[in-house]
Amino acid sequence: KELSSSQIRQMYLDFFKSKGHAIEPSSSLVPKDDPSLLWINSGVATMKKYFSGQVVPENPRMTSSQKSIRTNDIENVGKTARHHTLFEMLGNFSVGDYFKKEAITWAWELLTSPDWFAWDPDKLYMTVYPKDTDAKADWEAAGVAPDHIIAVEDNFWDIGEGPSGPDSEIFYDRGQAFNNLADDDPENYPGGENERYLEVWNIVFSQFNHEPDGTYKPLPRKNIDTGMGLERAVSIFQNAKTNFETDLFLPIIEKTAELSDGKTYGENQEDDVAFKVIADHARAITFAIGDGAMPSNEGRGYVIRRLIRRAIVNGQKLGIQGAFLDQLVPVVGKIMRSYYPDVLKQADYIAKIIRSEEDRFGETLDGGLNLLNSVIADLKKQGGTQIDGADAFKLYDTYGFPVELTEEYADDQGITVDQAGFKAEMQKQKDRARNARGKQTAMGLQHDLLINVKTPSEYVGYTQLTTESAMTE
Ligand code: ATP
Ligand code: MG
Ligand code: MG
Ligand code: MG
Repeated sequence: KELSSSQIRQMYLDFFKSKGHAIEPSSSLVPKDDPSLLWINSGVATMKKYFSGQVVPENPRMTSSQKSIRTNDIENVGKTARHHTLFEMLGNFSVGDYFKKEAITWAWELLTSPDWFAWDPDKLYMTVYPKDTDAKADWEAAGVAPDHIIAVEDNFWDIGEGPSGPDSEIFYDRGQAFNNLADDDPENYPGGENERYLEVWNIVFSQFNHEPDGTYKPLPRKNIDTGMGLERAVSIFQNAKTNFETDLFLPIIEKTAELSDGKTYGENQEDDVAFKVIADHARAITFAIGDGAMPSNEGRGYVIRRLIRRAIVNGQKLGIQGAFLDQLVPVVGKIMRSYYPDVLKQADYIAKIIRSEEDRFGETLDGGLNLLNSVIADLKKQGGTQIDGADAFKLYDTYGFPVELTEEYADDQGITVDQAGFKAEMQKQKDRARNARGKQTAMGLQHDLLINVKTPSEYVGYTQLTTESAMTE
């Protein structure tokens, strides 16, 4: 069946509605009352209050399509077929109501019934936690062939404090033609790092609470929490090579091609990565700003800044001169308007914020790229392989290049960045500021705080800590 992304999202929600679930709207990307998270990064992240028992939901069965941001996947974007910074997670949730048997039986029905997804059962593989013999039995009872059920040791979902338990992941065999690995590569199995077996859905049987002291306490009432990446499901329905050749991304890519120096998508791999990065980041920054986050030098704002600047540098690779990301905002708004009508309504506002950030970076971009290119050229001449901390810091401090951006740009040319040296330069700047502060007390303290939050290594650490510990890899 060739369905649109809107129809696929709706089909998922309708299926679970038919099983007694309440359809919940997508929550803001900016977490409410949850200092442990920088961004909402999954459907369940919005449901913690129900799973912890703090709030009792009107209906213990809920379903949603939740916009999510994962900063730990930034570097995967464009390189893998399946990773985004912003994506939608379809999910069904049971708060102490149904458990494993129903979750598994319904998942199989949704995926394979001719009335619903109608996917070929032969293409589907389920992974289970080795000790979870119930899950294996339930999949077999639902109709899965035993040789399509695979025990995988790390199928245990843990988001730090909160609900946790064994999980079962569903993989779709896209065929060897889609693979980046040889047929006989040891990683070539469902759950391995390959492009043949696409992970589409994770079903978590949360039966424990991960306590603040690190122990696991059995929950008096067990929960179900699931997550299916909409973009990945769409790539299967639309028989797309990657998530990007779908109706969710192609219009953004086409608009970018129009703005480029005569480039077209699908001609060479390097340009295609740039197109994908831009399309991905355009969506993420549009939604993040639409939800009230703003570019800045710390926390969430630093993530937005980093995404915008990375997209701009990728635009340069396509020969795009001057601001352009602002023009992608209404394209994103139109693609998403059936489910997120607010984005198109806010498009002018969002575009203005992005435009001013582009203009600001535009002032130092050429200087920064000149410096970076000449540093790299000098290194190559001298047979060096590493940009020193002082140069990386100058690029950051004077030219607004996030150190991750410098690193990625250099990496394309086989050169690394001296991270420790960069951090040392950052520390020196802090110390200079502290000394200059002298005897001022109240003002000085405030200044010091500001300088502190300007340390990119700190936000990155924070970002990675919060999002990476929130995931089962
Ligand atoms: P992967 O192994 O592919 O990185 P994951 O195991 O980290 O995925 P989960 O934490 O299990 O992902 O999230 C549930 C579902 O959300 C995944 O099965 C996938 O369909 C989707 N998903 C996760 N991360 C991303 C992402 N960065 N971009 C798009 N979809 C994603
Ligand atoms: Mg997973
Ligand atoms: Mg995974
Ligand atoms: Mg992942």
